[in-house]
Amino acid sequence: MRLVGTALALASALTFLGPVAAASADAASPFDVSDPTVGRLDPALLAAVQQAATAAAAEGIPMTITSGWRTPEFQQQLLDDAIQTYGSYSAARQYVQTPQQSKHVSGKAVDIGGNSADTWLIANGARFGLCRIYANELWHFELAADPQGNCPPLLPNAAS
Ligand SMILES: [Zn+2]
Repeated sequence: MRLVGTALALASALTFLGPVAAASADAASPFDVSDPTVGRLDPALLAAVQQAATAAAAEGIPMTITSGWRTPEFQQQLLDDAIQTYGSYSAARQYVQTPQQSKHVSGKAVDIGGNSADTWLIANGARFGLCRIYANELWHFELAADPQGNCPPLLPNAAS
C-alpha cells in the first residue's frame, strides 16, 4: 500500500509541473478507504469529499483524489524535488509546503481531479464545507468554510 500511496502522490506532484495532469489511472476513489492516502484523511474532510463526489457524480462529473494524506518523508521529498525543479527553496515553497506545515501530512487537505471536478468543486464545494485555498492550486481543497458556507479569501500560493 505504501507503493500505491507514493505513486498517487507522485502523480499529484506532477500536476504542478505543467499541463500534463495526473493520469486518472493513478487517482483514488474518495470511497477507497483501503488506500491510506484516502483512509488516513481526517474523517470530517473525507466525509465532505465523499458527499461532494456523490453530488458531482449525479451531474455526470467523476471526482478522484489525486493526493490525500502524505507521510512527512514524502512531503519532504516533494519539497526537495520542487527545489530542483524551480531552482530555489523560496520558489519551490510557492507550490509545496514543508512537512511541518502541510495539511496533507495532517490529513486535512486533498488534491482533487480531474479538471472538471476541480471546476465543479470550486463552484459547489462550500456547501460541503470544502474550499479552494490557494490561487495557484485549482485542485487543493480543505474543510475551511465557515458555518454560513463562506470560504476564506484565497491565499496567493503555498508560501503565503
Ligand atoms: Zn494539495
